[in-house]
Amino acid sequence: MNREDFPLAEQTNYLDNGATTQKPIQVIERLNRFYLNENANVHRGVYKLSQLATEAYENSRTAMAHFIHCDTDEIIYTRGTTESINLAAFSFVEPLVKKGDEILISHMEHHSNIVPWQLVCERTGAVLKVIPVNDSGDLELVQLDELLTEKTRFLSLTHISNVLGTINPIKEIIAKAHKKGIPVLIDGAQAIARTSVNVRELDADFYAFSGHKMYGPTGIGVLYGKRTLLETMRPYQSGGDMIRRVTLEKTTWNDLPYKFEAGTPNIAGAVGLAEAVKYLEKAGMDNIEEYEQELLNYAEEKLKAIEGLKIIGDPQKRAAVLSFTLGDAHPHDIAHELSIKKIAVRAGHHCAQPLMNRFKVPATTRVSLGLYNTKEEIDLLVEALPEIREKFKL
Ligand code: PMP
Repeated sequence: MNREDFPLAEQTNYLDNGATTQKPIQVIERLNRFYLNENANVHRGVYKLSQLATEAYENSRTAMAHFIHCDTDEIIYTRGTTESINLAAFSFVEPLVKKGDEILISHMEHHSNIVPWQLVCERTGAVLKVIPVNDSGDLELVQLDELLTEKTRFLSLTHISNVLGTINPIKEIIAKAHKKGIPVLIDGAQAIARTSVNVRELDADFYAFSGHKMYGPTGIGVLYGKRTLLETMRPYQSGGDMIRRVTLEKTTWNDLPYKFEAGTPNIAGAVGLAEAVKYLEKAGMDNIEEYEQELLNYAEEKLKAIEGLKIIGDPQKRAAVLSFTLGDAHPHDIAHELSIKKIAVRAGHHCAQPLMNRFKVPATTRVSLGLYNTKEEIDLLVEALPEIREKFKL
């Protein structure tokens, strides 16, 4: 892991990796190389450039399948986590549910793992149920058995909370749901760059994530789905590439994964993402996890010692994401003052308003660490905060 590989991380004290990550030079240069030498549309031309582009695009899918341990045709490229969840909601869950059926999520979900399910419920008459979160920021799993009823048709749950950092015991939860025949989608947006993910071992039915949160480009993400499920699903969007044969009367669908990739995909995005995967594999996900835990412990200890600072939640297992409040200072003022000192943190509701309500805070300041962050950057943050607290004392 080389901080020097990340030009923007080097110039800024960037502590907002939960929102997006900075990109290593290897990814940036790969994008350049693609546009300089390989750019053409995929799956169409017989000419050399199109073959190069197709090869690069499909090699990316193979690299991604290797990274999360599944088959190549189980990787659907999307725009990101949000689109991946919407795809699963529309193509798999909506046709499955009817009035009175239940869809289960948790109280710590990002809006993108809440709103698609609300819309499915609105259109079908299904009911949205919620696994509660306790004061520590852990799921109330004692209630899980009661919440997984004979009416439950689907469970959609985050792997790691983007606000609290909670690492949910998803393997156990998936096993419980499967015992009752309930399929599970995992929102892996915050997990994919922080821990090694093996979808086979987890036995996840769907796993969704974004390229831009794993040191790759924006506008590209993944929906992993078990082939047996993907094969039965209706298409999400329609148009070119997702068809096998079109007549004006009837159209048949292409094979997986193309059935779910209508239109020209984000070819360069996929190629850049493969380079990010290569980077992560070389660094080693276990090394990244260990390093981020070390940074997290350091940050937690130092932040806790600041008078008036309250970290939200104290989950059993936490990834390198910490949300806090500081005396009377509004999180936006905190983030603004830190920005003046060239420290980038996030302030707001973090697209998790139900969780904010649960903890009775309108907003928090969030520090989310990445593989290039340092203890020196945490020191800068910790030095700045008491000053800010004093400035905004009521
Ligand atoms: N889920 C979680 C847990 C997230 O943290 C995010 C991004 N903040 C998303 C979903 C949405 O990801 P994207 O905006 O890349 O679609």
